[in-house]
Amino acid sequence: MFLIHNRIFILSVLLTFCNQQFVNTQNIEPFKSEIDTNLNSKKPTQIDKNFVLGKFNYEKNELFVLVEAQHSSKTTYLNKDVYNAFKRMFDEAKNDNIELKIISGTRNFIEQKIIWERKWNKYKYLQPEDRAKKILEYSSMPSTSRHHWGTDIDLNSLRNSYFDKGQGFKVYEWLTKNANKFGFFQVYTSKETGRTGYNLEKWHWSYVPLAANYLNFYNCNIFDKDLTGFKGCELAEKLDIISNYVNGIPEQLIIIMPINP
Ligand SMILES: [Zn+2]
Repeated sequence: MFLIHNRIFILSVLLTFCNQQFVNTQNIEPFKSEIDTNLNSKKPTQIDKNFVLGKFNYEKNELFVLVEAQHSSKTTYLNKDVYNAFKRMFDEAKNDNIELKIISGTRNFIEQKIIWERKWNKYKYLQPEDRAKKILEYSSMPSTSRHHWGTDIDLNSLRNSYFDKGQGFKVYEWLTKNANKFGFFQVYTSKETGRTGYNLEKWHWSYVPLAANYLNFYNCNIFDKDLTGFKGCELAEKLDIISNYVNGIPEQLIIIMPINP
């Protein structure tokens, strides 16, 4: 109960900050619903609502860069600063005989919508709320994924069991000991500490120095009404997606700060 109250307190403080005109609204574009899902039409370089909602084309965004084949198992884009930090981490890991491989990086709204709706159809035998909760064990609603921001990576395997033994265990052990030095943090930790949202994901690491800014902006500017354009989107409010899932990370990683001070 303390943890729940604590989270409410944090979000209250955050909203207080938002209301104190710290947010620079000059770069915020009005939400234009379906039109903005045409991802080829936009080239935002500033943080704005469409950006944090994943409604942009990262291939044409100057903040993003294509990851080299040696670092990734498929065509992957990341924010340039995130990729530079990853390369430093990759090299140090390699020196310690640990191989890191990015298996997923940036995903935009449309890519997340494909994942979400594939699972939505898969679980059609469930009632709507249970259907969404089942998907939300490991997958985000479109416009609520940290993968939209180019700050988050999935490493080596999408199975927790891989990290429990053998080489996978060594990889996870190395990451838990060293990744923070490079700015990467595991955001979907064990839920036994009271964290809400997605289940444990030992593979998902976030470059928090940048992602904290985006989350802060998200919390100040995005509301349930902005989460539209996919099957089941009407459940976002009922499930309190922004509080329970977008902010369902360790509390020390929710950093309250002025935006564009
Ligand atoms: Zn992930």
